[in-house]
Amino acid sequence: MNLQEFWNEALSQLKNEVDPGEFAFYFSSLEFLSSTPEQITLTVPSPIFRAQLERIYLPQLESKLAELTGATISFAFQIRDAKIPAPKPAEARSETPRPTPNRGSKRPHHQLNRDYTLGNYVVAKNNELAYSMTVAISKDPGNIYNPFFLFGGVGLGKTHLIQALGNAVHSLNEKAVIIYVPAESFVNEFLTAIQNKAQNEFKKKYRNVDVLLIDDIHDFQNQKTVQEELFNTFNALYEAKKQIVFTSDRPPHELKNFAERLLSRLQRGTIADLQLPSWEIRLVILKSKIEQKGIRLPDAVLELIAKKVITNIRDLEAALTQICAYGELLKREITLEVAQEQLKRVFAGPAQESVPIDLVQKVVAEANGLSVSDLKGKKRTQAMALPRQVAMYIIRDLTEYSTTEIGMEFGGRDHTTVMHAVQKIEDKIKTEPVFEIKVQNLIRIIRDRAGS
Ligand code: ADP
Ligand code: MG
Repeated sequence: MNLQEFWNEALSQLKNEVDPGEFAFYFSSLEFLSSTPEQITLTVPSPIFRAQLERIYLPQLESKLAELTGATISFAFQIRDAKIPAPKPAEARSETPRPTPNRGSKRPHHQLNRDYTLGNYVVAKNNELAYSMTVAISKDPGNIYNPFFLFGGVGLGKTHLIQALGNAVHSLNEKAVIIYVPAESFVNEFLTAIQNKAQNEFKKKYRNVDVLLIDDIHDFQNQKTVQEELFNTFNALYEAKKQIVFTSDRPPHELKNFAERLLSRLQRGTIADLQLPSWEIRLVILKSKIEQKGIRLPDAVLELIAKKVITNIRDLEAALTQICAYGELLKREITLEVAQEQLKRVFAGPAQESVPIDLVQKVVAEANGLSVSDLKGKKRTQAMALPRQVAMYIIRDLTEYSTTEIGMEFGGRDHTTVMHAVQKIEDKIKTEPVFEIKVQNLIRIIRDRAGS
């Protein structure tokens, strides 16, 4: 049985169920390659694309095929060889082209970094909503989410996304007037304008735009006069249905010393946030970065970086850069050991062997309101089992003890129990950023105490 017919039907149904922009982006780039009675093989443009597609749409694809065929059909993906021609652009694609700047054919926007595109922004649970809103805005600025307020902690991709929006609008419509400005520059420019009695020019500049992108507006805190000016600019643009986008390191209601009426305007718009990415996503981001840079690194090295650098994406990239620079400088191959060594320099902690098992047990027990003997004991309630597994995981991570030795320290448990615990915690960490942060905090406390 050839499943191509079913695949075509699935596509035409999905087209009505999925957001048109998303459909054009993900489904128009798929090409049916072959099928067996149990499996459909599709080609995709890149490994990153595949990872994203699998994460976001695979379950939907599978259930659609199950619905249509009454059988369980799995999917396989092949990265399209450059020599295989891409599929003919689907209808949807010509309606909604993928908003990525077309390098070379158009002049780039002078204020925007060309490397910040929607195409190379890795999309996952932590930023999905903000991303899809940005894509929607790029196709119809001023008319959908206006104003748009994007917030998130340092290094989580605010500047990348807001500039990608600018790049996308620019590539779709070169005539659109787009201004990107960090709040700090807006402040300085305004103060200079006052000094030079050039306020009118300033006003003209900022009120004559189609898209105004202001980055890091928490820098406007305490700037009363500038807030006044921003408020007026905002009203002029808003009334003229021009797009306004702000980024901030916190949600509007947490901005301090901000004019009330400006705040209420901000809150009236659409608000989206960027969260910390999970372990899996960090790995995808690293893979995407090395692909862009044309670098090759062993998977084990990338996994190590993704596992150790949990703070934000900027730090993740910095660690990657440092490791690559080191390898290049010394003409050394980047092995797991080299990477470990370099990461230690960035995230220095006390030597691992100096962490005693009983310290780990004590810290983990305390943090969970248990006694050490509970932790080592036989009770298997969830309240004890999870902290016990966490303690085993941390010991395995920080020390050289074998699983057999660790088992002995937990009331003579078998080494397979320890292996199972480690696996379980690893899996949980991969998918639950909040849990990961808790474990990392414990590790930090343990290292601090072991070092002092
Ligand atoms: P912020 O402005 O929130 O402090 P940036 O936008 O400067 O953060 O992001 C820091 C770095 O991380 C940039 O190099 C950016 O390209 C990268 N980055 C952030 N989020 C992503 C993402 N989702 N996919 C790919 N790269 C990202
Ligand atoms: Mg920024």
